[in-house]
This record gives sequence, structure tokens and C-alpha cells, in this order.
Amino acid sequence: MTLAIANQKGGVGKTTTALSLATLFSKERKVLLVDMDAQGNATTGLGVSKSQLKLTTYDVLVADAPVSETILKVRENLYLIPSSLDLAGAEVELVNLLSRESRLRNALEPVSDRFDLIIIDTPPSLGLLTINALTASDWLLVPIQCEFFALEGVGQLLKTVNLVKKFLNPKIDILGYLLTMYDKRTKLSQEVERELREYFGDKVFSTVIPRSVRLAEAPSYGQSIIEYDRHSAAAQAYARLAEEIADRVEK
Ligand code: ATP
Ligand code: MG
Repeated sequence: MTLAIANQKGGVGKTTTALSLATLFSKERKVLLVDMDAQGNATTGLGVSKSQLKLTTYDVLVADAPVSETILKVRENLYLIPSSLDLAGAEVELVNLLSRESRLRNALEPVSDRFDLIIIDTPPSLGLLTINALTASDWLLVPIQCEFFALEGVGQLLKTVNLVKKFLNPKIDILGYLLTMYDKRTKLSQEVERELREYFGDKVFSTVIPRSVRLAEAPSYGQSIIEYDRHSAAAQAYARLAEEIADRVEK
């Protein structure tokens, strides 16, 4: 199963969610995390230094590098296709390449049997990198930050998903919407939650991810929150989310 995490709004918790879920699921399953963002936050978030990388997502997408050579083992049962700034140019270079929307899917195909779960972290845009992620995935998880204009852009994202479903990848479905950086003391968080549940019903995960300083600290130690402070409220929320995801996928 392949899960993309996307929302073209920046800073909503995509990478944090990708890192937390990848770490949690790797306890019992073999997981591959694909970093599709030139910022490389998922890469550094696992403690991998971008300056030492030989092959990255860029090489897989644009230079037809053999995917198995790009996969790094980062923990027991947890593997990574890292990214670096090279990827910033890929949006433009992909435009002229054959099957530009399906290059990630085609590249992952020969190794997908080796993993129980592939998680793809995407950049804050709806360009070809995100389209490649959606084309390669069975499911999409959409993190939504509890703030003003939280739902801005979600309509555009859904339009893109529907186009991908129609023309590129009939398998893709929305797995769910995840409220992130939730602060139960504020009216704003409650309002965003109410609006989202009214709009998307049970497609919204019951679990919400609280705003947490520990979550913001973890990446600077090259660790996911699960490793950095597994007793924190945020780590426990992600653990409940992982259970909800397992339930939804089995249905
Ligand atoms: P981008 O669009 O730039 O890729 P993103 O959607 O991947 O951003 P993250 O990088 O996961 O978002 O999160 C943005 C910032 O907010 C990071 O500094 C992260 O550590 C912090 N953060 C994420 N989730 C939470 C949370 N629940 N509580 C507090 N801080 C958080
Ligand atoms: Mg990110």
C-alpha cells in the first residue's frame, strides 16, 4: 500500500505526519519513506545529512537512476529515498520528459513488493512532484492546520485528485483529513474542527494532533516524535492515528 501525504498549503504538518507514521508503522512493517520535497525535511528529520547524498529522488525521477540504489536504510525496518535541493529543478525538467506524471510510480514498481507500506511526503505545491506522488499512491492523507483559511486550497487539491483519478491513477482515494496543531483552548481550533467535520463527515480522522513544542523540537535531533518523546501527547496522538489508519485500510 502506498500513502501520499499532501496539501499545497505550506507548513501544515505534512512532513511531521509522514515522519511520525513512517516510524510508527516500521515497528511491525517494512516501510519506505519517499521524500518528494526539495526542502528535504523528511530526510534531515531522520538524521540523514543532505550534503553526503549520492543519489536522491531527483535521480530517480529525472535521471532514471535505478531506484534500489537510491534507497537508504535509516532504522530497523525503515528505509528512505532522500531528497536534496536538486529536486527544485525537477518540476521544470519533468515537463519535457516522457510519462512525466507517472515517473515515480514506474520507478517504485520494481521495489514495491519489498515493502509493506510506502509513504510519500510532498512539497507545498500542486505541481508535477505532487502529481507524481498522487499517481503512485493508493491513498491520500490531507493534513489541515487549525488556523484561519484552513480550508483554503482544499477544493483545488480535490480537483487535482479527481483529475489524477480520472486520467492517471483510478486507484487513488482520500484516506482522510487530519487536523494538526490543534489547540483545544482556542475557539479557532474548535471552529476549524466543526467546519471540517460538517464538510467532510467521517472522512475526518477522530484523532486530532495537538500543537506541541516537542513535535517542533524533534527534527533538530534527527528523530521523529516517536523516538524523541514517545510519551508526549503528540506522539500518543500519532499512535492513535496509526490505529485509525490501519482500521480504515482494512475495511
Ligand atoms: P512544508 O509545506 O514546508 O513542507 P509541512 O506541511 O511539511 O511544511 P511540517 O514541516 O511538518 O509541515 O511542519 C511545519 C512546522 O511546524 C515545523 O517546524 C514542525 O516542526 C512544526 N509542527 C508540525 N506539527 C506541529 C504540531 N502539532 N505542533 C507544533 N508544531 C508542529
Ligand atoms: Mg514538508
